[in-house]
Amino acid sequence: MQIELIAITPEPERVIEVAARTCYQSQDHQQEDSAGILIGKLLAMGHETPLEHAYATFRIAGCSRAMSHQLVRHRLTSVCQKSQRYVSEQDFETVTPPSLDEADRDEFADDMATIRRMYGKWKARGLRNEDARFVLPNACATELVISANFREFRHIFAMRCSRHAQWEIRAACVDMLQQLHAHAPAVFGDLLADLNAQA
Ligand SMILES: Cc1cc2nc3c(=O)[nH]c(=O)nc-3n(C[C@H](O)[C@H](O)[C@H](O)COP(=O)(O)OP(=O)(O)OC[C@H]3O[C@@H](n4cnc5c(N)ncnc54)[C@H](O)[C@@H]3O)c2cc1C
Repeated sequence: MQIELIAITPEPERVIEVAARTCYQSQDHQQEDSAGILIGKLLAMGHETPLEHAYATFRIAGCSRAMSHQLVRHRLTSVCQKSQRYVSEQDFETVTPPSLDEADRDEFADDMATIRRMYGKWKARGLRNEDARFVLPNACATELVISANFREFRHIFAMRCSRHAQWEIRAACVDMLQQLHAHAPAVFGDLLADLNAQA
């Protein structure tokens, strides 16, 4: 799975600070290093609306449809995903669960090859992509672009970086959390600390 941060609000913590100080009319207190302290206070008191003014966009490739189906349940995100109607899955790639041992992986690959033949059979009989895809597995690799504001990313990470989350969405969200933390440590630092405490 490849996860690329393709866009982010410039100076996101500064933008959040300007939004929050507008609420309190405390612009006079804005200084070179005041954003991080203010964001810590916002998080502590649950005033998270200012976080909605910073956005990020990721491109995620090589993840399974099993994972993407969970990610797109987050309704406050914007998503564009590879279509199984407009794009043929004749040579679809797959994601293999890491829980499979070596012998099982071979058998799993054989099963995927069987499904590729099934898909080809139905296409050859004249089915459109939109109907031939009914035989495709959740292991089918996909690609998507997802955008959200920082409040929603915090919500997603809080749910999906948990040890109880499914391994693939957890891996994706841990990666995105680390990338966003590099740009906005005050916004995402507590979540990364929780993650490290879990390890
Ligand atoms: C461990 C785990 C197991 C799960 N198992 C299942 C399962 O078995 N079956 C299943 O169907 N789903 C399952 N889910 C998915 C889950 O039910 C949610 O659909 C998904 O996590 C999106 O969460 P959300 O609705 O909080 O977040 P988002 O859609 O990202 O929304 C963010 C927040 O906005 C608010 N919000 C958004 N839309 C509304 C609304 N219409 N009304 C009121 N408030 C709103 C809520 O506060 C919400 O928490 C599971 C999720 C997890 C993490």
